[in-house]
Amino acid sequence: MDEKYIIHGPEPMIPVPQDTVGKQLFESLLKHKHLPNALIDAVTGESVSYSTILEKTCLLANSFKNYGLEQNDVIGISSENCVQYFYPIIAAMYSGITVTTFNPSYTVRELLHTAKISNPKMIFCTELTLSAVLKANVTSKVVILNRSQNIDKIECLDQFISNYSSKEFNIKDFRPATYSTNHVALILYSSGTTGLPKGVMLTHTNLNVRYCVIRDPRFNRNSNAGSVCAIGLLPFYHAYGLYSTFINLLSGQTVVVMKKFDEEIYLKTIQDYKITNLYLVPALAVILAKSTLLDKYDVSSVIEIGCGAAPLSKKIQEIIKKRFNLKFFREGYGLTETTLSVIGAPLNQIKEGSCGKAYSYTSVKVVDIETGKLLGPYQSGEWCFKGGLIMKGYAGDEEATKNAFDADGWFHSGDIGYYDEDGFFYIVDRLKELIKYKGFQVPPAELESILLTHPKIKDAGVIGLPDELAGELPLAFIVKQVEDLTEDEVKDFLAGQVSPHKRLRGGVRFINEIPRNPSGKILRRKLREFISLSKSKL
Ligand code: AMP
Repeated sequence: MDEKYIIHGPEPMIPVPQDTVGKQLFESLLKHKHLPNALIDAVTGESVSYSTILEKTCLLANSFKNYGLEQNDVIGISSENCVQYFYPIIAAMYSGITVTTFNPSYTVRELLHTAKISNPKMIFCTELTLSAVLKANVTSKVVILNRSQNIDKIECLDQFISNYSSKEFNIKDFRPATYSTNHVALILYSSGTTGLPKGVMLTHTNLNVRYCVIRDPRFNRNSNAGSVCAIGLLPFYHAYGLYSTFINLLSGQTVVVMKKFDEEIYLKTIQDYKITNLYLVPALAVILAKSTLLDKYDVSSVIEIGCGAAPLSKKIQEIIKKRFNLKFFREGYGLTETTLSVIGAPLNQIKEGSCGKAYSYTSVKVVDIETGKLLGPYQSGEWCFKGGLIMKGYAGDEEATKNAFDADGWFHSGDIGYYDEDGFFYIVDRLKELIKYKGFQVPPAELESILLTHPKIKDAGVIGLPDELAGELPLAFIVKQVEDLTEDEVKDFLAGQVSPHKRLRGGVRFINEIPRNPSGKILRRKLREFISLSKSKL
């Protein structure tokens, strides 16, 4: 292997903490317990302080123990963003319990699939998700996370604590458990390069490296403890929303939480709380770029805007910079499997169109997609990664784990791009089949397997239809089994079984045959050609 073509991130400036994330969170909460607001709800104004988080999480950890949870057990969270979201996560991390987070819009079918992977002994849910969680019946214990009353016989968090915490429990005596940082802290879901959603196992070491990378002054401007710095709008169940908030909590900052996007509330929140950092996905960046409301608000507090999760056009980046009066728009690139961004824009050194340079603790190689040969600058190929941010593997799926890494231990991302002579990376395409709708994952194989269960569908192939706002819209090519099948029938059939972001917003096209290779694999490139053909005929 030609070592000179392997790109390494800069020498680390911050050593990786050797403590578990639980211990560090505990210390951060103790250190910041005088600060009034850790999380504030943007709409209701409900807030939790650092000392409340400290108290609740210690009590909850004690309750977990008395309930019978042990190290390596898994708890799940099925909740929209709320100020209580991190209580069970932090308590679990004190205790060596693994946390899995479910998309709150999961249908019963999706919950069954993902919970089968992670096997949670307890699930924290909200009024919104309770019904699906109960119907899925995948756990023996359900607790309501964000209400102070029980719902029927389902205990709310305070009731659970009151039922299970020891009467003699004293927070002053509480200490997080000591265990290996190789322990799996989180199981998050991603379809990877192919197939159905899988459980990405991330360890405490992965999260510790993430923390080092985020605090690296060459890449990030660090905000002070006590500053109100971010809006928690990106979903907490996804790596992006989860870590950004986690890091804010570790640093003693305040996050203003939003359950769903509302342009006016978002802009007003920036103004009222003097938000300094905006974490965006392209769909949100497009809305802000085109917003007719933005000029009515004072957004001058914003000093940094970062974006990732999907491609964003230069045009939109330029508009955003102008509207927020910023010199730089910072893009980052990463995957759930890489504990999020492995490549990011260094401070004050941004190159147009690039998502940045490799972070510390990360090595990157670009390989030819046909031959696997290592490629040099300006040659496009698949991006592969090694280092402290790369996942441990897919939970309970040795085969998928084996397929994700090559013989030399490099993780294959399924993304295509190149780097320039200064080590800046440029993403150009996606090799893998994954569709991204507004930054949300839509695995085509999942939709195809559902569509094939329809008695009037003979064959199905799903791809992403390019869209300016959403990035891509899921579009199904269908071969009919019987003539009287309509587009609406197909759309409705799928909509009943998947989360809203997976719906066939790109439409349905009926064709005679799904192009496949001799081994039966769908030739998605051919399907994409069908779209451009039909466009050029217009
Ligand atoms: P997820 O695991 O949901 O975070 O999705 C990871 C995938 O999102 C990557 O493999 C890329 O295909 C895509 N992605 C992430 N960041 C970027 C970016 N800056 N530009 C283009 N695509 C991106």
